[in-house]
Amino acid sequence: EYDAGGYMPANIGDILKNQYKVCRKLGWGHFSTVWLCRNLLDDGPTYVALKICKSAHMFAAVAQDEIRLLRETRSIDPNHPGYKYIVQMVDTFRLISVNGIHTAISMEIMGPSLLHLLIQSDFRGYSNRRCQKNNNSGLTYLHDACRIIHTDIKPENILIKVDQNYIRSMIGKTDRFTELGQEMPRSYDRDADIKYTDEDILSKFEELRGQSYPHDKFLIELTTFRERHSEPRLTSPMWVSPNIEIKIADLGNACWEHHHFSSEIQTRQYRALEVILGAGYSFPADIWSTGCMAFELATGEMLFSPKGDRNPTANMDHLCLIWETLGGIPPYITETGTNVRHYFHNGRLKNIPESTLRVWKIEDVLVDKYKWKRVDAIPFAGFLESLIEPDPALRFSASMALQNEWLTSTD
Ligand code: ADP
Ligand code: MG
Repeated sequence: EYDAGGYMPANIGDILKNQYKVCRKLGWGHFSTVWLCRNLLDDGPTYVALKICKSAHMFAAVAQDEIRLLRETRSIDPNHPGYKYIVQMVDTFRLISVNGIHTAISMEIMGPSLLHLLIQSDFRGYSNRRCQKNNNSGLTYLHDACRIIHTDIKPENILIKVDQNYIRSMIGKTDRFTELGQEMPRSYDRDADIKYTDEDILSKFEELRGQSYPHDKFLIELTTFRERHSEPRLTSPMWVSPNIEIKIADLGNACWEHHHFSSEIQTRQYRALEVILGAGYSFPADIWSTGCMAFELATGEMLFSPKGDRNPTANMDHLCLIWETLGGIPPYITETGTNVRHYFHNGRLKNIPESTLRVWKIEDVLVDKYKWKRVDAIPFAGFLESLIEPDPALRFSASMALQNEWLTSTD
């Protein structure tokens, strides 16, 4: 996709806008590549994450919306307690390459995402109370103060805060190569002969996840992949402490309460019930995703992982999974939404015999499948059920979630 209309080609050592020296690639998404850059105008030295968007007109337009959203979140209320849990924009400008004109957004530098952390845990999950507090604080700011719906809350978009030492340790690796005038090989690591990087394992993860593997098969695939490419050493253990702080990133899909861009939002597995039903959405959709993410961070497995690529099939499977987890969906919920007639008849799932549904409430899933103690499972399941409440009007808001006893208790 490094062609006309696509990503901007960048090399380690390039100096952009006479100000930002490219140190290494941090990540990429549908719309952009993201680079760690040193700000040459600052003696600090200070670093930023530079998001360089694809150049095609459509991507440029999306980037303009993202910039408007980022400007608002930067300026509306810096004193709000949730302000510091949203990744902030620093600057924005345009860059010209052989592929066209690219919008560039420099942002405060963050570390790996919660998905990295999940991979690092070998999908066993970890205590995520702190992440939940930060995430919900961030959402109170986005929702209550900015009136913005994120629409893509998921582990990939929640980034871990790191300190200058961590950033410098990442730079150290690249500088030795930049001094030699070479681009850092994707596989380079100071101490170990790693044949692939976080990026490779993430794209493998995405590929496997796209195929909706059963979890055990998924793990076997991933393990085989790792073995074939030697033992992984993802990142320094520095950030794997449970005391991490996080921020919400990627406002690339966000919208305003009264100005939506799309009726279909969110990544499939984190998609709220009302979105599936076409019943309209607002802030509660982010809370649903937060619930799905909390389960995933705690157990290493997704709460809902529907099968099927085509929307109608995947939606039907998704609704069955939701039904089984909630022990049913209230009939009045099944009556509103542009899609309900495809999936429901008289308050029941269409063409799905009740006998094939196996109700398995979260509390029991935690105890039976993940071997939690019931005393731990009860409060966490209670918290989750308030986040995936089927009626968006009854669902916890972010500020209510912050008051919940599971969240306020200590480990
Ligand atoms: P897209 O809109 O193209 O999906 P994102 O904003 O999600 O782009 O960024 C893509 C990836 O770049 C992220 O998943 C993350 O790995 C990395 N990234 C984004 N912003 C930052 C940041 N501020 N600091 C560090 N890494 C970042
Ligand atoms: Mg993204």
